[in-house]
Amino acid sequence: MFHSPMLINGVEVPSLSGKVEIIHNPANQDPVAEVCVGSRPDAALALQAAKDAFPVWSGTSSQKRGEVLHAAADLVRSRLDRIAQLITLEQGKPLKNAKGEVRSAADALDFFAEEGKRNFGEWIASSQSRSIVLRQPIGVAALITPWNFPVDLLAWKVAPALAAGCTFVAKPPSLAPLAATEFVKAVHDAGLPAGAANVVHGPGSEVGAELVENPISRKIAFTGETETGRWIMAHAAGQIKRVSLELGGQSPFIVCKDADLDAAAAACAQRAFSNMGQVCIGVNRVYAAEEIADEFTAKLVERTLRFKIGNGMDPDVDLGPMFSRAQRDRTKEHVADALGKGAQLLFGGCEPEGDGYQKGFFFLPTVLCKADHSMRVMREETFGPVAPVCKFKTLDEAIRLANDSEYGLAAYLFTNDLKTAIYASERLEAGGVGVNINNVVDMQAPFGGWKQSGLGRELGHQGLEAYLETKHIRLGL
Ligand code: NDP
Repeated sequence: MFHSPMLINGVEVPSLSGKVEIIHNPANQDPVAEVCVGSRPDAALALQAAKDAFPVWSGTSSQKRGEVLHAAADLVRSRLDRIAQLITLEQGKPLKNAKGEVRSAADALDFFAEEGKRNFGEWIASSQSRSIVLRQPIGVAALITPWNFPVDLLAWKVAPALAAGCTFVAKPPSLAPLAATEFVKAVHDAGLPAGAANVVHGPGSEVGAELVENPISRKIAFTGETETGRWIMAHAAGQIKRVSLELGGQSPFIVCKDADLDAAAAACAQRAFSNMGQVCIGVNRVYAAEEIADEFTAKLVERTLRFKIGNGMDPDVDLGPMFSRAQRDRTKEHVADALGKGAQLLFGGCEPEGDGYQKGFFFLPTVLCKADHSMRVMREETFGPVAPVCKFKTLDEAIRLANDSEYGLAAYLFTNDLKTAIYASERLEAGGVGVNINNVVDMQAPFGGWKQSGLGRELGHQGLEAYLETKHIRLGL
């Protein structure tokens, strides 16, 4: 069985307590690996190592840092098969998607290798003085990540942190730490000074809390549930720490009467069900114009029937198991709640039957119609493969319903009318709006949430700025 130690000060180490836990495959509950489980003292050691490495790494030129990041991207690509396999075994997603995730993580390293060189300052000429504005690395960053994209979401933090000159301690999710740890090891092996990149495993309530509360960390970059983000923000406040929070979502998908319904149905099914709906920007609520709602919904069901479900290691599979029993139970509860309040089940709503499904956390992608905002599935983050469809009469009604949420991460709109596209996208309350596209992630553009979906931005040049402090140097004349 695979063994996963932590990485502290450039050395693979067990936890101080010697504690280990077994990671299980959500497709069949087979044991996958034994992982070392740390606690607060392990996190404190890693923070100290990152602090000691900070003068060396922050003092390295941005060109040299860029070279190391490009080398890291190459090393991650050369270890792609191994890292991707670990994602599938611990998280469940199909291997082809896991490979895409690792490729994207390597691309993030390449992108920020270049972006780090564009950390320009300013020169301001005043009558009495000259001002230089510098942007310098914040210091040690704590990077805390969830299990749904364990490598990619960590890469969105590791790459800009290192490009900015920060050192870091990463805390991957307790139930899926394997691939993230291998990713950080590859980055470290590319030529980082010892201690610049550290990984500590262990519970969020201990390791995560130490990373947030220990004065050594100067920046917390977190992706996860809104509730955890709230806790982190409150506890970071004690030392006025910088925080970036990428939190929950409840993304609406609006289909206008003039939309290309085939394209909209395909986009909706893919974004609602890929990774079993365990995607922060996944489609959670569908609003279809009443003139085309029935036709669109029929197309959505037809698309949904095409997915092949099974063990993610099978190359033909489109959808793997859900990550955990808890995730599946929550999805079942939301579907039952919706059906109890008048929704109609068009497909799914239960576990698939047959060989190969009994031991895993499988669930059928589910399409509901006659959904409304009294239902939990329309208001809470299901984080499961459910697409509830609700009809609307006017565009303003669709926008009002879409904005009727405490979340504001992503929103989608399908229309062939430019005025409708501009009118709606300017009024939707979300950090990212996809018009005729079902993905608001682009490496070169900022990503993040409005309202309770988060604070700060990742990716784009904004992703680098999240790891920089501003300094004004005033020169008297
Ligand atoms: P959690 O918030 O439960 O956990 C995320 C990470 O935080 C884990 O590493 C966890 O550790 C750690 N953690 C838990 N408690 C604390 C604490 N008190 N202090 C510090 N760290 C802590 O999220 P999930 O893993 O369940 O991920 C799913 C969530 O992530 C969904 O809500 C989803 O919307 C959100 N998400 C948001 C994205 C975005 O970009 N906005 C992208 C992807 C997901 P442990 O595993 O040990 O509990």
